[in-house]
Amino acid sequence: MGEKKNNTPKFKLNSYWIYIPILLFLIGMSFLNNSGGLSSRKIASNEFTEILNDNDVDKILIINNSRAEIYIKEEAQKKERHEKITKSPFFRKGSYLYEYNFGDLQNFENKLNEAKQKNNLSFDYFNDERTSFADTLINFLPFIILIAIWLFFMRRMSGGGAGGAGGGQIFNIGKSKAKLFDENTKVKTTFKNVAGLEGAKEEVQEIVDFLKNPEKYTKLGGKIPKGALLVGPPGTGKTLLAKAVAGEAGVPFFSLSGSDFVEMFVGVGASRVRDLFKQAQQKSPSIIFIDEIDAIGRARGKNSMTGGNDERENTLNQLLTEMDGFGTDTNVIVLAATNRAEILDKALMRAGRFDRQIYVDLPDLHERREIFEVHIKPLKLSDNANLEFLAQQTPGFSGADIANLCNEAALIAARNNKQAIEHQDFLDAVDRIVGGLEKKNKVITPKEKKVIAYHEAGHATVSWMLEHAAPLVKVTIVPRGQSLGAAWYLPEERKIVQTEQMLDEMCATMGGRAAEKLIFNKISTGALSDLEKVTKQARAMVTVYGLNEEVGNVTYYDSSGNDSFVKPYSEETAKTIDEEISKIIEGQYARAIEILDENKDKLDILADKLLEKEVIFKDDLIEIFGKRPFDKDNKVTTTNNEVGTKED
Ligand code: ADP
Ligand code: ZN
Repeated sequence: MGEKKNNTPKFKLNSYWIYIPILLFLIGMSFLNNSGGLSSRKIASNEFTEILNDNDVDKILIINNSRAEIYIKEEAQKKERHEKITKSPFFRKGSYLYEYNFGDLQNFENKLNEAKQKNNLSFDYFNDERTSFADTLINFLPFIILIAIWLFFMRRMSGGGAGGAGGGQIFNIGKSKAKLFDENTKVKTTFKNVAGLEGAKEEVQEIVDFLKNPEKYTKLGGKIPKGALLVGPPGTGKTLLAKAVAGEAGVPFFSLSGSDFVEMFVGVGASRVRDLFKQAQQKSPSIIFIDEIDAIGRARGKNSMTGGNDERENTLNQLLTEMDGFGTDTNVIVLAATNRAEILDKALMRAGRFDRQIYVDLPDLHERREIFEVHIKPLKLSDNANLEFLAQQTPGFSGADIANLCNEAALIAARNNKQAIEHQDFLDAVDRIVGGLEKKNKVITPKEKKVIAYHEAGHATVSWMLEHAAPLVKVTIVPRGQSLGAAWYLPEERKIVQTEQMLDEMCATMGGRAAEKLIFNKISTGALSDLEKVTKQARAMVTVYGLNEEVGNVTYYDSSGNDSFVKPYSEETAKTIDEEISKIIEGQYARAIEILDENKDKLDILADKLLEKEVIFKDDLIEIFGKRPFDKDNKVTTTNNEVGTKED
């Protein structure tokens, strides 16, 4: 994912320039064609007869059997009638003066012969075939179109790539588009820039060693690894880590994305792979980093029905060949990143290719704190910024999210003309990133506001009463982004979710609609995102995690990511699945209504308070409900604006 491409030269020898000579050529042709045509005059039949009978005509050129160009004798040109034309600045000596459209050729010729004999005239006439400007254009049109199409595709294919500057880019199709960082564009990233990821760093440390002193390993007969696969969600620092390896080892770093190989033309991908490895070997020891390798590395042959992936397969085959091909002495190491290792072709993972897989996960609490520390370094902070607290408030954030958050906080502080970034700016930035922009002027009628207040109070009340629902930290009815209100939770970071936990969470999600039903005896469209969420969850329980008794311990999840058009279960099972999903959701809806009914007095108080204050926090909830009996961790204290996941 790395940095942006910024190699647009100021003046690009655009291929549109090639149209200019073509145009000039065509214009030139048109001039040549009609010698003197600029000053000549069209004449009608009677005038032509007059000139003819005056014996002024020197010769007549019959062009394409359709019109005549009339040349006048030198001595006759002095006549007043002809001087009008010969004195014109556009007149060229020796060119014709008049043009005459004669109609039928046979008649015209007869007329000329007749006049010649009768008046004893001394002129000749010739027939001439000549192509006009329009004809030329039409003749050339196929070529022009062909050239235009060709240029268009060439531009598409080689556009934007490294080394694409200048007119030469047309010929770079088969060249790799890798971005090179070497001693000139020094890779300054080191492990210091990578926070957390201790395990991953340890694994790649070995690669750094290989690159630094390969003899240490080859001396004992060991083979240097050829590739490692960095697996993890986007933004977790895979590119950063690969760069840091290059930086630590002090070797050149070729970076490109898997999709850069793939073009619509056959053979381009494979030739780019070849070129890339050639370049890397010339600079060895070096590192090749291929981001999003799934673009080419997807398992082969599964979609052969569509037949459109041959090019990708060729590219992948070439990559495998190259990885097998370069010997142990070349010291080129390929690092590749993906967030879906399971869909990759197994051949990629074989020994001698990407045989090491390094997992780069979303950062945990401690790692988030470290990442914050890396990214606040260039910022000017006030003393009250509490990184520990911020790390707590950002579960599920990736390294890239945190980098973005820090930047956003700086922008917010600057917008408010502050001298330093304060804690509140970070909190606002979190709100903004998770929930979208606050919309203060979204028009909401008092009645709607009441419905929203009860809806959110419903979420809050139900989740408060359920042991396994995530602890609530903030409820708001300030509209934000697409949502009209929100309840924010601080989810526990858990890897395994049990049935009760899922059910409790679904019950809390249904709490919004349940409150509307209980209080107003009406339900609204406001619960759309809630319904979407529970439906997905229920479907996952039944079809993915095998948590439903009717359907049993089966999963219809296909980790290879190949969506097939055919459902992997029978019609009967499909029916059971639908029924079970509905049963689960309705069950939790009824349960939510029951809980709210039991606590209706508290629900009312909460809704009133929400209407009054618009935003309420955990403290207010404790005031109304008393302490939550199952809350053991009181990580989240009394400060305001806590955030985790939210529910509209
Ligand atoms: P990926 O390649 O995994 O999608 P990147 O390496 O491109 O992610 O990360 C994007 C940005 O996020 C980095 O440039 C860096 O600023 C920040 N970042 C991600 N992970 C970390 C980390 N562990 N430590 C410091 N910064 C990180
Ligand atoms: Zn809701």
